Amino acid sequence: LLKPKIVILGAGYAGLMTLTRLQKTISVNEAEIVLVNKHDYHYETTWLHHAAAGTLHHDRVRFNINNLIDRNKVKFIQGTVVEINTDKNKVILENDELSYDYLVIALGGESETFGIKGLKENSFAIVSVNAARKIRNHIEYQFATYHTEGEKSDDKLTIVVGGAGFTGMEFLGEITDRIPKLCRDYDIEENQVKIICVEAADSPLAGFDSDLVKYAMAYLEGRGVQFKLGTRIKECKQGAVIVQSGEEEEEIKAKTIIWSAGVRGNSVIDRSGFEANKGRVIVQPDLRAPGKDNVFIIGDCSIVVNKTDNSHYPPTAQIAMQQGVTCAANLTKLIRKKSDLEAFVPNIRGSVCSLGENDAIGIVYGKKVVGSRALFMKKVIDNRALYMMGGASLVFKKGKLNLFS
Ligand code: FAD
Ligand code: NAD
Repeated sequence: LLKPKIVILGAGYAGLMTLTRLQKTISVNEAEIVLVNKHDYHYETTWLHHAAAGTLHHDRVRFNINNLIDRNKVKFIQGTVVEINTDKNKVILENDELSYDYLVIALGGESETFGIKGLKENSFAIVSVNAARKIRNHIEYQFATYHTEGEKSDDKLTIVVGGAGFTGMEFLGEITDRIPKLCRDYDIEENQVKIICVEAADSPLAGFDSDLVKYAMAYLEGRGVQFKLGTRIKECKQGAVIVQSGEEEEEIKAKTIIWSAGVRGNSVIDRSGFEANKGRVIVQPDLRAPGKDNVFIIGDCSIVVNKTDNSHYPPTAQIAMQQGVTCAANLTKLIRKKSDLEAFVPNIRGSVCSLGENDAIGIVYGKKVVGSRALFMKKVIDNRALYMMGGASLVFKKGKLNLFS
């Protein structure tokens, strides 16, 4: 008898959670499972700010996919998805084509530049291991060449971070940890370095607890970050950003420009004819795409509506992983010809924003935490994600085991 074929696209939080759950519940005879991912490794997207600042080596934030899968049940294909044809049940890869009976789209997000002139070409975004590695090397190069290139220009040591959401704030925490070391390595006075954070809203982390936000801002300011609030990046050129606050415009020269002010879903979604808002599809309660009963969309490519106020949940790893659990349960039901699919209900436990190695802020189960307690919680969350995907051995290999320092 021909087995149904399940194809999972993307080995991030959503895809890997689906896969690891499926390989536990489904027997070899029940279905063929195929996982497709651009690289042969998974990376912890939530740790990329470490790799980008250079506070953790990029090998610490990734692990090999083959070590995680049950090869009796799962076939891994390294490939880049270009487009999906849901009428023909086909996935088009850069160098191949795949057919499926059931599809899980878990391709994650991309940077969104809102059409701002010059931004794509002249700024960096913290979106992958390759991108993070490039940022780390670029920053280090500016320090390394400060004394060797003809005229010293201070904009070599200026870093602009556009957007003080969670990603921007976490990167600022890491880079302020790294700067003293870079200064020591390259004989540079710390006061030569400028870190400017440009945020369009009147506050960083808009909507988050205001006491915690003040705490985080004061901490980062104490470490040399200059915040320009109510100021938006309007244009980006090679080595400069043009920012606007009210009627006033200013050009800030900076050799390093990090754009952390917007995420969108994957452009594969747009190319594949789904009704979407910036690459994100409002999914049905059981996580299937509207009108497509054999296609699940989860993680940053999906939009989950909060029933209480019709708002959209922000795209997070927390939700992506929980969706993976529901998606695997629903796929199992479909394979076993059951029709009572589960509705996905997010269980938001809170969020913690790290501020480098020595401080953090957060709300966990409704309680505010700062300092060592918040740092402890952050490491527990990070290790838990590894545990959920790869069990205790993965936590021992890649985990943050220094819980109390
Ligand atoms: P991802 O985990 O990004 O995985 C997508 C996968 O698809 C990747 O393996 C990628 O290589 C692959 N892929 C992409 N395109 C293709 C293609 N065309 N073909 C084949 N493969 C492809 N959320 C939290 O809840 N807590 C946090 O603390 C947190 N911290 C964050 C810190 C940073 C620096 C960033 C950038 C984000 C953070 N987030 C956090 C958000 C969180 O990382 C995302 O919401 C989450 O990664 C979404 O999971 P996903 O599975 O949809 O996508
Ligand atoms: P975001 O969309 O949450 O924040 C972007 C920020 O950029 C906003 O503060 C916005 O006002 C600002 N902005 C937008 N346009 C601008 C412009 N032209 N100039 C200057 N500022 C501008 O993006 P993010 O921080 O990358 O977060 C993406 C998702 O990932 C969110 O859901 C977030 O919760 C999640 N995340 C969570 C954590 C965590 O829990 N620790 C860490 C990182 C990301």
